[in-house]
Amino acid sequence: MFEILFLGTSASAPSIHRGLSAQVIMHDEYRFLVDCGEGTQRQILQAGIGFKRLNRILITHGHLDHILGLAGLLSTFSRWEAIDELEIFAGHWALERIRDLLFGVVLRGVRPPIAIHLREIKPGVFLEAGDIRVTAFPVQHRGPDCFGYLFEEESRRPFLAEQAEALGIPPGPWRRDLVNGQRVTLPDGRQIDPDQVLGPARPGTRLVHVGDVGHTADLLAVCQDVDALVIEATYLEEEVEMARDFAHLTARQAAELARDAGVGRLILTHISRRYRERDVLAEAQAVFPGTNVARDFDHFQVRRGEFLKIEANPE
Ligand SMILES: [Zn+2]
Ligand SMILES: [Zn+2]
Repeated sequence: MFEILFLGTSASAPSIHRGLSAQVIMHDEYRFLVDCGEGTQRQILQAGIGFKRLNRILITHGHLDHILGLAGLLSTFSRWEAIDELEIFAGHWALERIRDLLFGVVLRGVRPPIAIHLREIKPGVFLEAGDIRVTAFPVQHRGPDCFGYLFEEESRRPFLAEQAEALGIPPGPWRRDLVNGQRVTLPDGRQIDPDQVLGPARPGTRLVHVGDVGHTADLLAVCQDVDALVIEATYLEEEVEMARDFAHLTARQAAELARDAGVGRLILTHISRRYRERDVLAEAQAVFPGTNVARDFDHFQVRRGEFLKIEANPE
């Protein structure tokens, strides 16, 4: 199961109701801040989630509306020491700009008070934490080295409690070891194999996050059957040429990708002030009914085959 909390959902510039791109993706004790537009630290405060464990930041690309918040965040982290280590993952070009921003502007030769690791990513799995892994894949937007992220939970074999009862396996470490795939010897000397008490593997939850992007054809494979797709929808179809010129999507194009890939749920973000939210929603839902347009502080839960809005921002 993943949770996603939207901190900023505006395209290019903030609006009265929407901050710049940022969201937190959570799984068990792990948290990943995806993009960090200007004003993100204030959104974190307002959301009430605190700064602890926000030490992994994934950047989709190096445009300023996705990275400027890193400067303020680092400045605050330096004083508060809510964390002692910061890892920032991004493509080469974005990372160069982030290096200039953090080391050239914020720190200017001063030794960072916390360890900062700038991790350049290439396509493929780049992060494994607990029972999840994160894969980067290239996306086409203005400029090089733009990435989308696939968050995947390991598949799990359910423990069949009735089978365990029938076999007379006592509660305790034997059951735990069996769940972990180990053969055990019971106090009475019998040996039990994990296959005797574990059902067939159930696939874990999968969530795809795509930042700014101008083409969807090459995203079809990675989005296939995922439980939720978070993606930009900067334009409406009436301005499809402008969307193409700036390498962004229309709501309709995002919805067509969701439909063609058979995703469970589509969540649109990076919303422009040019449009009314209900027009963005209507254009997408005409193609893919299972669409939400995210607002700042919307909080969703994504499970295999299930989608839940925990908290909605009524604005
Ligand atoms: Zn953007
Ligand atoms: Zn961009």
